[in-house]
Amino acid sequence: MLIVLQHDATQAQIDQVCDAITELGFEPRTMPGGQRTAIGVVGNEGPIDAGRFHGLPGVLRAIPVTVPYKLVSLEWKPARTVITLDNGTRIGGEALTIMGGPCSVENEVQLMTTAEKVLEAGGTVLRGGAFKPRTSPYAFHGLGEEGLHLLVKARERFGLAIITEAMDVEGARLVAQHADIVQIGARNMQNYPLLREVGRLGRPVMLKRGMSATVKEWLLAAEYILSEGNTQVILCERGIRSFDSSTRNVMDLGAIAHVRTLSHLPVLADPSHATGRRELVTPMARAAVAAGADGIIVETHPNPAHALSDGQQALLPEQFAEMVKQVQTIGTSIGRSIQALRGAA
Ligand code: PEP
Ligand code: MN
Repeated sequence: MLIVLQHDATQAQIDQVCDAITELGFEPRTMPGGQRTAIGVVGNEGPIDAGRFHGLPGVLRAIPVTVPYKLVSLEWKPARTVITLDNGTRIGGEALTIMGGPCSVENEVQLMTTAEKVLEAGGTVLRGGAFKPRTSPYAFHGLGEEGLHLLVKARERFGLAIITEAMDVEGARLVAQHADIVQIGARNMQNYPLLREVGRLGRPVMLKRGMSATVKEWLLAAEYILSEGNTQVILCERGIRSFDSSTRNVMDLGAIAHVRTLSHLPVLADPSHATGRRELVTPMARAAVAAGADGIIVETHPNPAHALSDGQQALLPEQFAEMVKQVQTIGTSIGRSIQALRGAA
């Protein structure tokens, strides 16, 4: 339920509505707006009787929110969320956001070489895993804290923002001290203590869709983060499991278009993990932007044959640059530009 107040409602009237909500055992969330204040009711699982609020002084109307993911929904907040990072990158606005980088941070030369190419191509955010969730316990699990320091060094040198994954509560605190965006990976989409923690850390979060999560489960996972007070959440479609193993996953383009009708949060696409094959990444990046994605996150590596993880899906730097150009062409045709950093090609 969302209770919209009259434009001239007084503080006493706002307080009275909040008290009425608290008396019902729920939690009021006051949202001051340019024109009028709205108060959201959270904590209820089923419907609330709107009549309880209609008679209160200062109340214009009470609107039921019909979906379980309330704070995330467009019903709750019709204006799209735009997240602005320290380097000026805006995510969720008219301009598309390009994030690129290696699957894993491997060493300084690899990361700096890649960062330079990402910047030249028009990217504004550098990705790179320092803590890697690997399917096999014997695979490379990332450089850990050293990887974070290399990412920070790349940010200082190139001005790119940095995004990297946190796998647990402890790690999330550490990542949030260094990264511009904390990534929650597909395998952790329903790690509720971790979601709550990143909700409290106040850093922008990119929440990847679990490989077998429904759209509803994905949005409810985002609701965990918003319910702790962090509204800076980016959704990321990265492919879901199917019966067909010809691609690593199936990129759910329909979900990209669909979540934009359900939620105000920005949605990015990751065609690298969605396809698992280099030659399919650029076509699916184009398709994702055509479907309404607010940007893309793509793996690129200067020497994919020697990558320590996900080499088979990493674009060569020149392929990455060509992909950005093609994405730009699609974007232009639907009224979206690419916001490069000043000084970039
Ligand atoms: C990654 O971004 O490298 C990654 C592990 O992604 P996902 O969580 O989507 O598998
Ligand atoms: Mn990867």
